[in-house]
Amino acid sequence: MDKWTGVIAIDGPAGAGKSTVARRVAAALDVSYLDTGALYRALAYYLDSRAIPPQENDLLKTALGDVSVEIDGQKVYLNGDDVSSLIRTPAVDKIASLYSALPSVREKLLNLQREQAQKGGLVADGRDMGTVVFPHAQVKIFLTASAEIRAKRRYDELSARGVTVDYEKLLNEIRARDDADAKRAIAPLRQAEDANLVDSSDMSIEEVVGAIVEKARGSVHA
Ligand code: C5P
Repeated sequence: MDKWTGVIAIDGPAGAGKSTVARRVAAALDVSYLDTGALYRALAYYLDSRAIPPQENDLLKTALGDVSVEIDGQKVYLNGDDVSSLIRTPAVDKIASLYSALPSVREKLLNLQREQAQKGGLVADGRDMGTVVFPHAQVKIFLTASAEIRAKRRYDELSARGVTVDYEKLLNEIRARDDADAKRAIAPLRQAEDANLVDSSDMSIEEVVGAIVEKARGSVHA
């Protein structure tokens, strides 16, 4: 079978399992994986650490002009420094959705995301992959699960990394983040019209991965 050369766009709310699924689909098809949330997290981390408030103004534009964001597989770099683990904290979960609502922030990351698809096949996950960044993706998936299940998964993931969190607090934060991501004016989280809806509440990761790989192989690019 020829190597997959198209784009698989996976969107959905926080904690739906997008990154685990996307990573495994990419491995199964032997193509690259792009975690676009990591890019938004990195920029939010940078802006917040420089006390730049999440508001569209000259201060923000200057700061964005001064920073370089690079992605190399699972690693994200800010001005050459590896920030991959620093950006995966509950504090960054919260601020990422504040900064990601700003047009200049999204603009800064648009080409960087599209460039990743020029190197060959790609599985990209985020909130606006199928709607804005890769509107012509060969396969579009909207991956979701109930808020309770997503909060439980996040809880288990953070606990496994030794991060102590309260489940109810996580659930409220997930709901608030869903709300912010879905209601923002620019590139809101929504299912593209031609996306396949996959509700993973009662599905194993293997089942979700299998369904997406099958869809990809059945498409014109397989
Ligand atoms: O997917 P992840 O939880 O890492 O994303 C962090 C935040 O980045 C999201 O809550 C969302 O606000 C933002 N994001 C986005 N567009 C994307 C990916 C992430 O706005 N394509």
